[in-house]
Amino acid sequence: MTSYNFFDRESCDLCGLCLNQCPIMEMPIDQARTEFKKLVNGEETEVLTKCTSCMSCNNFCPHYSRPYELILYRWYKRYQEKGLPRAAKFFLPYQFPNFGSALLEHLPEDEKKTVESWANLEKNKEVFYPGCNMIFLSYLSFSKLFENVTFMGSQELCCGEPWYRIGVLETSEQIAKKLEKQFRNLGVKRMITPCLAGCNMYKNVYPRFGAKFDFEIIPMLDWLWERIDQGKLKLKSKLNRTVTLHDNCEAKPFGNKYFDLSRQILQILGVKVVEMEHNRDKALCCGMAAFAGSHRVEDILNAAARRYREAEDTGASALALYCGGCQWVLSIAKILSQGKTPIFHVLELVQMAIGEKPAHRNVERAQKIFEIAMAEAARVDPQERFWAEEIEWKNEE
Ligand code: SF4
Ligand code: SF4
Repeated sequence: MTSYNFFDRESCDLCGLCLNQCPIMEMPIDQARTEFKKLVNGEETEVLTKCTSCMSCNNFCPHYSRPYELILYRWYKRYQEKGLPRAAKFFLPYQFPNFGSALLEHLPEDEKKTVESWANLEKNKEVFYPGCNMIFLSYLSFSKLFENVTFMGSQELCCGEPWYRIGVLETSEQIAKKLEKQFRNLGVKRMITPCLAGCNMYKNVYPRFGAKFDFEIIPMLDWLWERIDQGKLKLKSKLNRTVTLHDNCEAKPFGNKYFDLSRQILQILGVKVVEMEHNRDKALCCGMAAFAGSHRVEDILNAAARRYREAEDTGASALALYCGGCQWVLSIAKILSQGKTPIFHVLELVQMAIGEKPAHRNVERAQKIFEIAMAEAARVDPQERFWAEEIEWKNEE
């Protein structure tokens, strides 16, 4: 049986650097050591409520002990005892009907048709796997960038990352086993993932639960770079603008690779990056995972507002990002703060550079997501708790 504790206690010398450098805790070193010891011993600590699940601490540890995995494990123990607030159920994958199924009903007709066409899970060797983040923003695919590309994905094939980010590790294991069987059946050999969350889950996280994915996984940033580098994408004009770049938490497990590659792509497009106060492996979470520790929905909005304010403070002409989830959370922050800085996905910037006009529906999509979320929050008893039902895949062929 899996223990679910992927923290390496043997290599950890309790130095406290992880919590000392954490962009949320910023603890003096003595306090950091004390609080980390409490985490190790399974005692109550403010870390468990303040942590925004940003993953940075794994990169700060000089011994690669994976302190973030210890936080996830403590959250798992808390979940076993107390469950999760009922309000969270609506926002989690595989809990139908949920936020995703509600949102799909409100998509414009062109996106509904697009998402329906992606849900055809036929056997394919090479696929672009949209994942939920891109399914909810399917207008990002309205581009000749995706000519001759086969999309394959639905909410039933979700990578399940949110369960992992809040520490419900038993459910993560079930999803890992389900996806392993499902993908084996689909015969995929090469998969391009638009967000790094999917890539990290399949490459790094699910193998820890014993699941094997016998295919090549290429993050979209690599795919874009390869196409630009090989001259397959003809850039018509330099964009000549300055943007600030939000680094996705899920880039952190890959070291500097995607911090560098995203900036390299922007540079080729003629975009200068002006950095936010917290960037690269110190980047703050967009807000999406800020629920993980506190279990308070308002902390998602507070964290998103803080991150969007950092972007505005740079004075850049736009906020660029490379994750669909970050795009809609930060777009909600933009709406609520009446911010002036527009938000663009890297895909949209590439579209502009090849001479297209992106559909750019992020603000209207964020507005709809916010309305759906608020309606659900008003409906659910804030005291009610739930525990996840088992998730498994039944081959109905
Ligand atoms: S996951 Fe992020 S917020 Fe949580 S302790 Fe680690 S660095 Fe801090
Ligand atoms: S996990 Fe790493 S950084 Fe944190 S206390 Fe242990 S050795 Fe130090």
